[in-house]
Amino acid sequence: MTLTTRFAPSPTGYLHVGGARTALYSWLYAKKNGGNFILRIEDTDLERSTQASVDAIMDGMNWLNLEWTHGPYFQTKCFDRYKEVIEQLLESGNAYRCYSTAEEVDVMREEAKANGGIEKYNGLWRDRTDHPADKPFVIRFKNPLDGNVVIKDMVKGDITISNEQLDDLIIARSDGTPTYNLTVVVDDWDMKVSHVVRGDDHVSNTPKQINILTALGADIPVYAHIPMILGDDGKRLSKRHGAVGVMQYRDDGYLPEALLNYLVRLGWSHGDQEIFSREEMIELFDLKDCNRAPSGFNTDKLIWVNQHYMKTMDPEYVAEHLAWHMADQGINTENGPALADVVKIQADRVKTLKEMADISRYFYEDFTELDAKSVKKHLRPVVKEPMLLVKEKLAALTDWSPEPIHAAINDTAVELELGMGKVGMPLRVAATGGGNSPSLDITLALLDQNKVIERIDQAIKVVEARIAAG
Ligand code: GLU
Repeated sequence: MTLTTRFAPSPTGYLHVGGARTALYSWLYAKKNGGNFILRIEDTDLERSTQASVDAIMDGMNWLNLEWTHGPYFQTKCFDRYKEVIEQLLESGNAYRCYSTAEEVDVMREEAKANGGIEKYNGLWRDRTDHPADKPFVIRFKNPLDGNVVIKDMVKGDITISNEQLDDLIIARSDGTPTYNLTVVVDDWDMKVSHVVRGDDHVSNTPKQINILTALGADIPVYAHIPMILGDDGKRLSKRHGAVGVMQYRDDGYLPEALLNYLVRLGWSHGDQEIFSREEMIELFDLKDCNRAPSGFNTDKLIWVNQHYMKTMDPEYVAEHLAWHMADQGINTENGPALADVVKIQADRVKTLKEMADISRYFYEDFTELDAKSVKKHLRPVVKEPMLLVKEKLAALTDWSPEPIHAAINDTAVELELGMGKVGMPLRVAATGGGNSPSLDITLALLDQNKVIERIDQAIKVVEARIAAG
């Protein structure tokens, strides 16, 4: 039998990091075992499900390159099948019509609680056949009254729950629509899911689902309930903590490889290794090595991983992602250096691609405004002479590359008996608009020679204005 996992999001929002991690672990486990990975959209909550969320979930998975082998399946397309299984459960005596109203059930729960029992429906209609003809009813599953349910959980170990704790849960509402636990069971059964990987907020549903599967004579999957993700304040990760949607991480300048690597480590480890290529993840990942305790989201670590990938991945590849950010920031990169060359010199200067795009603007756009602080510090009256001389030397170069550029700057400093910085810093401010850039010779070499000369002229005018102002 082929190992089969699934990711089964409810399309009621974007793909958040918790969901992405669940998808990743499911995907990895299937991939590792040459199995199937199903994408199933659990869209039965018609009020809260939206097409925009479906798109956002698929965009997120595509961006992370988590390819599903089957699907996407939509639960709303399977109502006939759910009906059929509900009928089957009714006919086999594993489900029954319950005519108690919600208020009556509330009273039953209160009573059970008052008597020191478990708050649940008292099974009033479990074995009755005197069904009223004109009253609305729900359909309840006939949960076994005694014995235990054992969840085989690859992360948490075996979990045993006594059937006495469990309610006769509703599997069809009074309008006939199936409930969550029923649809999941039918799909996991029909789709031959062998391993259910999901957040541990579902642990309480699992014994109910196992009981329904058993009543249907279905195989019981192995479960892996992944502990939740906490924000840096120890509370469950949510919007309050900032970006939680996967595509927001793209917008914020993270590489998909970095987020994926960060997520695989958020709840799983292999010795003290931090960096895993996709192939290594597939080879080394195992559900049984997942942490049992919740994991804390740590943005500093994600940044560190992102920096690692920006610096070590093929610059041509990183450039493709940088191009997105350049466009996002309205920077036209048609004229100017190849983005891969920019990546090579900027990668170790930034935390994100967004920042990289922002600080690389001067390669593609002219500017008339220079950074005020840098002007004050470096474009003082005394730099007019070195600026004129270095401009002359740079303009004369026939080979516009780092070495001769470096020599031109150096010769200027030697001739005027100045330190390199006294020439270099004003030149940097002139060429880039500010006091921060990678090594000057490489930076200038990536810019067009005429452009550099024009920018020096522009800076000299600033110096002259300062001289005139006294
Ligand atoms: N649709 C459920 C959710 O988004 C997941 C159900 C499952 O994985 O079994 O929480």
